[in-house]
Amino acid sequence: MSLFLRYAAISDRGVVRQGNQDSVFAGSHFIAVADGMGGMAAGDLASAIVINTVARLDVPPPSDSVVDELADAVADANRAIRRCVADDPQKEGMGTTLTALWFDGEWFNLVHIGDSRAYRMREGGFEQVTVDDTYVQMLVDEGRITAEEAERHPQRSLLLRALGASEVEPAFQTIKGVAGDRLLLCSDGLSGPVSDADIARTLQTSASPQEAAESLVQQALDAGAPDNVTVLVADVVEEHPGEQRQIIGGAAADQRLAESDTAVLRAIREDGEEPEGDATVNLRADGAESGKKKKKKGGRVWRTVLSCLIVLVLAAGAGAYWVRTQYFLGVSDAGNISVYRGLPFEVAGLRAAWLEMESERPASEATDDVEADLKDGIRVDGRSGAESELDELIDPAAGNENLDPLCSVSDTEAVPTASKDCRDD
Ligand code: MN
Repeated sequence: MSLFLRYAAISDRGVVRQGNQDSVFAGSHFIAVADGMGGMAAGDLASAIVINTVARLDVPPPSDSVVDELADAVADANRAIRRCVADDPQKEGMGTTLTALWFDGEWFNLVHIGDSRAYRMREGGFEQVTVDDTYVQMLVDEGRITAEEAERHPQRSLLLRALGASEVEPAFQTIKGVAGDRLLLCSDGLSGPVSDADIARTLQTSASPQEAAESLVQQALDAGAPDNVTVLVADVVEEHPGEQRQIIGGAAADQRLAESDTAVLRAIREDGEEPEGDATVNLRADGAESGKKKKKKGGRVWRTVLSCLIVLVLAAGAGAYWVRTQYFLGVSDAGNISVYRGLPFEVAGLRAAWLEMESERPASEATDDVEADLKDGIRVDGRSGAESELDELIDPAAGNENLDPLCSVSDTEAVPTASKDCRDD
């Protein structure tokens, strides 16, 4: 039996910090929390890059290569951060945690690096699923300090591992989902100031993921919230929870980044090629935005910002090379059933899709269900998969059930929508 996730997520700047360097993503198949680190706005960029990169996994996971794909996504994210640092040595030290779960309706595939945490409440039993990659956790593991001492240890936030390092070894594990489970992903801005006992009680007593998330964030704020607080609560349920929007929060949803991304993305699209060089030129040529940025460094700062944004866009599209291997069927601006390359959904407000093939058949002629699916985008397997799916959808002779009855395919203008009763011949 396939199970579902019912989720809620909140990312709050907290009481003390100027900005939010945490990022969060929640979707039907994939949930993730990242806690960025590094000054000069590097931490929020790091967590945003990672969340936007791994958000591509919010699709049903493949049965055979799930760990490989999870590892690939994490490696891509790490490369994107490294590239950002290489372009701007001031960002040295920029990094992020990542705790993420990819759900196939039965099993959770978990990837974890850093000190964000996953907890599970099952039948009243509360358990931390992840092990912190921290210095104090190592001391606890070695029996040199107790878990209680670790909570007050001055070095408690010192990480042994994070994304952004030259070598990254995330931990993978697989956890079976059971209906009634309540999962919590959070940054240390929650697990620091709020005790495990209070977290457990809140998960136990809250009626919904939303109520639990709100209550947990409020408790962190009440405790002074010295750090950014990010909370994601997901219930494993038997009944389909209905339509749920993807949630992107924290730095990954930062409007400044999103707006700049759109410009960069447009440049990439018009260019149609590897974005790095020309996208930079295009974007700088339009000048308005770059002119406002610090002029005194002769565009150097802006270039650096831009190169990181391009990385972010690449990440948002999950790497141009990856995006361009993805296909889906959708509806063209003219309303026709079409093949697109890219991703059928927005990531951080970005759309990374290129029209590949446009048929002459209006999507409105498909059955209501198919039309709705087309509007959401129907993911297909590569270009050949896209072509055969398209053929099936636009060929009424195939006797398929996807289309409303219709007389003619090619001459769409000549077909009055009223005459739909001629398919029998
Ligand atoms: Mn933190």
